[in-house]
Amino acid sequence: MTIAANLGYPRIGPHRELKFALEAFWAGTASEAELQATAVRLRTASRALQQGAGINHIPSGDFALYDHVLETAAALGTFSAEGEGPLPLASLFRLARGAGDTPALEMTKWFDTNYHYLVPRLSAGQRFHLAANPWADAVREGLAQHCRTRPVLLGPVSFLMLAKSADGTNPLALLPALLPAYAAALRGIAEAGAAWVQIDEPCLATDLPAGAAEAFETAYRSLAEAAPGLCLLLCTYFGGLRENLPLAFGLPVQGVHLDLVRDPGQLALALALARRDQTLSLGLVDGRNVWRTDLRAALNLAGRAAGHRLMVAPSCSLLHVPHGLRGETALDPALRRRLAFAEEKLGEVVALARALDEGEAAIAALLRESDAVAAERRAEAPPPALAPEPPPRTAYATRAALQQVRLNLPPLPTTTIGSFPQTAEIRATRAALARGTLDEAGYEAAMRGHIAEAVRWQEELGIDVPVHGEFERNDMAKYFGERLAGFAFTRNGWVQSYGSRCVAPPIIWRDVARPEPMTVRWSAYAQSLTGRPMKGMLTGPVTLLQWSFVRDDLPRETVCRQIAEAIRAEVLDLEAAGIPIVQIDEPAFREGLPLRATDRAGYLRWAVACFRLCSSGVRDETQIHTHMCYSEFADIIEAIAAMDADVISIETARSRMELLEAFTGFAWPSGIGPGVWDIHSPRIPSAAEMADLLRLALRHLPADRVWANPDCGLKTRGWGEVRPALENLVRAAEAVRAEL
Ligand code: GLN
Ligand code: ZN
Repeated sequence: MTIAANLGYPRIGPHRELKFALEAFWAGTASEAELQATAVRLRTASRALQQGAGINHIPSGDFALYDHVLETAAALGTFSAEGEGPLPLASLFRLARGAGDTPALEMTKWFDTNYHYLVPRLSAGQRFHLAANPWADAVREGLAQHCRTRPVLLGPVSFLMLAKSADGTNPLALLPALLPAYAAALRGIAEAGAAWVQIDEPCLATDLPAGAAEAFETAYRSLAEAAPGLCLLLCTYFGGLRENLPLAFGLPVQGVHLDLVRDPGQLALALALARRDQTLSLGLVDGRNVWRTDLRAALNLAGRAAGHRLMVAPSCSLLHVPHGLRGETALDPALRRRLAFAEEKLGEVVALARALDEGEAAIAALLRESDAVAAERRAEAPPPALAPEPPPRTAYATRAALQQVRLNLPPLPTTTIGSFPQTAEIRATRAALARGTLDEAGYEAAMRGHIAEAVRWQEELGIDVPVHGEFERNDMAKYFGERLAGFAFTRNGWVQSYGSRCVAPPIIWRDVARPEPMTVRWSAYAQSLTGRPMKGMLTGPVTLLQWSFVRDDLPRETVCRQIAEAIRAEVLDLEAAGIPIVQIDEPAFREGLPLRATDRAGYLRWAVACFRLCSSGVRDETQIHTHMCYSEFADIIEAIAAMDADVISIETARSRMELLEAFTGFAWPSGIGPGVWDIHSPRIPSAAEMADLLRLALRHLPADRVWANPDCGLKTRGWGEVRPALENLVRAAEAVRAEL
């Protein structure tokens, strides 16, 4: 019999119950018992939902109060001495969020998703022990409600590979110290009554460093011995295993899960490698996107595995998609028909498993629906032909000279990254417009008031390149998505980003186009108030793509090109309206990098081409800026340079200009604004401090190409910080200028 399995379910709750419970607990208005009660309610509801849908292998232990990597590390005794018992919740949250002088653990992206995990820091002497067994507890919790679950553990090799070394030693060397804790966890899980355990090793879908293959062999030999009665499902996702396929199937595990959405082609080799006693778990339902599964196509693929022991599952945990479509009544019906969120995906998994056992006739009605949607999508007009790639801009030196004639800026020009505080008043104004208690004209007047005020004090302070302040933007992606054709927004499509933070990504479902200008009237109004060069602000195509659920019937590259065409039109309209400088933000540029090194050049090629497409239509005299938030640049510096912006601003304050080295080592060809104010901290930096950072930057870069600016936008800061800090920034620039 084919097993319908799930790998993990969204934790935040259909109405973000976990978010609100966490925030109430942190605010001190709810007790730990109340928080835990909410967590139990959410787990119970999600088990019941999955059971009701007909899932045979229901995951447990996939829940986490804050983050599953952190909570795995805690259970394995990473943060406590042997005999101390489970880590208290207060300590867990201190690690997650910092407190007083204790900084939080570093947070980083979970593979190529928008989920962020906390990075355990390990050093050579690190000891482990089973401080708690949340997986066994989860099995018992399920059994108490007559639900036998399959606990999910982050596997030992991926756990170590995802950790960071605190002392330069290789975390994989800690495997022998770590394995006894895993063995104890598995024994506890078996005793609790589980039959299968799912061990996630997503790192198997990445390029393995030296020693990792041996680590897998050692680890799984020892796990298999630890609990001989327990069936181990080695679970991989976010890509194909490629050269790691033989390694995976050679391990002493009873099952292997493959992501057949990202890499259907790997099934053929997997079928040849799977031992007769091994179960193949087919990841046929996309856990990373919101589209309804083409059931017939999935069945055709699965049919090739006939004769094997099979499970059907989503490609990865459903953590990365919204809970369900139930409340999405406002969506265009043509779009809604095409969607499947977590709850609907469960139904697809069950239907596929059933059809494999009983034949297609058993799910005839569902197949008809799925076929109809697939046909509808296929019948849509082909996307408009893409314009040929425009020629590159004139050489930087030529344009820079012309821009300088027009802009007449001093060395170390001062500017900001675009947004100013989104105050309660501004949010209330937006809410009033949405509610209808304020009309368009009233809203327009209010926003103009904020802009006028911002321009006035930027002039007062002496900011060389002012901005309008982005007051009218709820969010840097949403604002544009709402004004572009082809994007749709959900009411409740929340996906966890980290801890209690969620995002509701837009859905790109049709050809992207710009029906009318999106930002021009705000920027033009701001420019009309000052003789200084106003900087127009746009979100770049790669970032808009990265932060959305993207249609899967076109290559991502094509969708990105469509967005780039739309942004290009906006850039040209800004230019025509007399805006001399346009900044195109690409904070998510690096996020799009594929997990495998061999795939990266392809991505970088089209990502760079899209940026150039939107930025290269302007005259030489128009200056193009871009901005990227904190990220490593060293390995992609050539691509960043190929974007051919006149100025790039980056986050460098916290690293004290260390990140600049990637640029200076490369002989960076154009302008650069290394952030001198760490805007993530409420601290107001002094002029002397910022001047020092500017001097540091000038050791590496010529003064006529360095800008003075904060690390990032100021929307999350208060005016009480912004005004004095910017005043100090201007003074710092003046002081260093005087030394030139
Ligand atoms: N212009 C945007 C802002 O200032 C940039 C934000 C970002 O990089 N994330 O808010
Ligand atoms: Zn930023």
